[in-house]
Order: sequence, then C-alpha cells, then structure tokens
Amino acid sequence: GTTHRTILVTGGAGFIGSAVARYIVEHTNDYVVVLDKLTYCGNLDNLSALRGHCRFAFERGDICNRDQLDRVFERYQPSAVLHLAAESHVDRSIQGPAVFIETNIVGTYTLLEAARKYWAGLSAGEGRCFRFHHVSTDEVFGDLADMSSAATAFTETTPYAPSSPYSASKASSDHLVRAWSRTYGLPVLMTNCSNNYGPFQFPEKIIPLMITRALAGEPLPVYGDGRQIRDWLYVEDHAEALYQVLTQAEVGQVYNIGGNAEMRNVDLVHALCEVLEGVVRGKPSGVQRFLDLVTFVQDRPGHDLHYAIDASKIRRELGWVPRETFESGLRKTVHWYLENQAWCERVKNGSYRLEDH
Ligand code: NAD
Repeated sequence: GTTHRTILVTGGAGFIGSAVARYIVEHTNDYVVVLDKLTYCGNLDNLSALRGHCRFAFERGDICNRDQLDRVFERYQPSAVLHLAAESHVDRSIQGPAVFIETNIVGTYTLLEAARKYWAGLSAGEGRCFRFHHVSTDEVFGDLADMSSAATAFTETTPYAPSSPYSASKASSDHLVRAWSRTYGLPVLMTNCSNNYGPFQFPEKIIPLMITRALAGEPLPVYGDGRQIRDWLYVEDHAEALYQVLTQAEVGQVYNIGGNAEMRNVDLVHALCEVLEGVVRGKPSGVQRFLDLVTFVQDRPGHDLHYAIDASKIRRELGWVPRETFESGLRKTVHWYLENQAWCERVKNGSYRLEDH
C-alpha cells in the first residue's frame, strides 16, 4: 500500500531528533511532526533544511503539559511517536537534577498517558499499527568496569545500574515505558544507544566542545586521566537505526544500538587533533599545535569508566550496520563545524533563541 505514516518526533529540534526528522523527510515518504519545547538545546536552525516542506510540521510544546499533548495528538493523528525529548547533559544533571526528573521522568509519564488515551481511541486496525518508540541511552546500564561478570559489552538483558542523575532519570523513563506496555498493552519499542556525535550537536558535548575550542586556540579540558572508554556512533547512523526499528521491529522489542567504536577519551581528543591538523592550515603547523592545548581537569563525580554496546541483535534481526567508521564520521563532523561556524556563533551568542521563526 501507499499509506504514509505520520511520525510525532518529540525533541525533534535537538541534536538527534533533528537528524531523525531530516532522515525521515529526506529518505522516506512519511510525515514528520516535531514537538519541542525549545529549551537551551532545542534550536530551530537544526531544522532549517525542512522549513516549508509539505511533509514537515513544527509545534512548540512541553511533554510535561498534558493539554498541549492532547491537542497535538488530536490535530495530527500520528501513527507513531518517536520520543527523544529529554534533558541530555550529564554535567548539568549533577549541577541541577530537578529539571531532569521533571522532563525525563514526569514528561515521559505524561507523554505515555497522552499516547495511551489517543491509542485507545483509534480503530482496531490503526491501534495495531501504532507504535510508541522510546529513545534511550546505554548509560542506564552503569559502569561496565563495575560489573562482576566477565561481560565485555552491554546487551539488551544487562541489568540496569545507572550512576548519574541523568542516567537514573533515563532508566526511570525506560521502566515506565516497559510498565505501560506490560500493564496497559501500549505497543512500545525501545532502543538504548551509545554516545552520538556529528553535525548540530550542542557544543557543550565533548566532540563539538573540543572542535570549537581547538579552532579558537583554547584549552581542551579532559576529565581525570582521560582513560574513560566510550563507544561512538555517527548521529545519522543512529537516525537510520531508529527508523528501521520503528518500521520493522516487532512490537515490544528492545534493541541496543552502537558503533563498535570504543575509544578512550584521551585517544579521542588525540584523534580529533589529527583530523584538525589535516584540514586546518595554520602556523605553527603539526598536530602538536593542537595537542599542546590538552589540559587534564578534575574528574566528573561518579564518572563511569567504561561503556560498551553489543549491537549484534539489531544487526542480526534488522540488518542494521553503521555506514560511517569512527574515522570517516569524525572527519565529516570536523568539516561540518568548520563550514558552519555561523551556527556555532549563533549558539554561543544566544541569538538562536531570540528569533521568532
Ligand atoms: P538534545 O539535548 O540535543 O535535544 C533534546 C531536545 O528535547 C531539545 O530540542 C529540547 O528542546 C527538547 N526538550 C527538552 N525538554 C523538553 C520538554 N519538556 N518538552 C519538549 N521538548 C523538550 O539531546 P540529544 O542528544 O539529541 O538526545 C535526544 C535523546 O536521545 C534523549 O532522550 C537522550 O537521552 C537520547 N540519547 C542521546 C545520546 C547522545 O549521545 N546524545 C545517546 C543515546 C541516547
């Protein structure tokens, strides 16, 4: 058939959500409705490629506001929800956890309830096709270094052991989604993904932070001894994985998503310095120019040492594999930040928030 989905993407003005919205509009025939509160991390510049497109709509709204949610469900009659709206920065969750509890837990609860009411009102056929896809993180599993077994990576059945206010709030939201599936029969899907990087990432996160600081000749702060290991995935590979899960996975399934690209933070910064040296001409030349900027700073409290994702289930069942290697993705990312310094400038000086789009 040629029926097209209407996918409600919460948090679609953020880093991953905007990549998902672009992916769906540009690579499929489906419709996208972005619902976003436009917090400090939400940026309509991230969606400028879609402005005016006939299969794209934007609604400013808060997932904690039930009336707004009911109106959006009523107006757009979505066939699926891709839920990405969240507070997402670990350091901010340590400084001020309240908004993480509010948005990530209460907001997910409110969205689940709005979706459940909407879903219950659908016809039997529409109800069977409806999906609530919750997007989560590998940080819910805690620190691989703490696990007593000889596990080398998190699987879909690894027990939850979150360490930070951020990961605890995401773990809570995952539990709510499972409960709404089990108790009310809401047709859910869930994915837990490793660290993303790529275009449009807010420059407080490590990769864009390092790129923008290196370009400005500013110190590159590395937490502790820099030996923490993260797995990295290019954001467009994540967007494609999310769409595949949403459209192909059996209802109730959970998938881990990762890039098979584990790296110590200190090596990541070195790799970035090498890419930068390759693309930025300057004096003095040589990678040392950037490496000299590296400074080790006091570690983040509760910092997990090691995350690693076993993504064999999504590869086996859905045939998804990342297109980018860490090297190719990093190169693309550095080029994007170089070519989009105006975007960075508007984020830094705050003007991205002031305009009425
Ligand atoms: P982001 O901070 O860039 O984007 C979050 C978006 O949600 C922003 O546009 C913000 O305005 C919006 N938002 C925040 N509170 C809201 C509310 N109350 N109502 C409506 N919208 C609200 O985050 P991101 O990095 O794009 O992450 C998106 C999702 O993916 C999050 O749920 C995060 O936990 C998850 N995730 C992120 C990563 C990663 O590496 N960035 C990895 C795995 C999972």
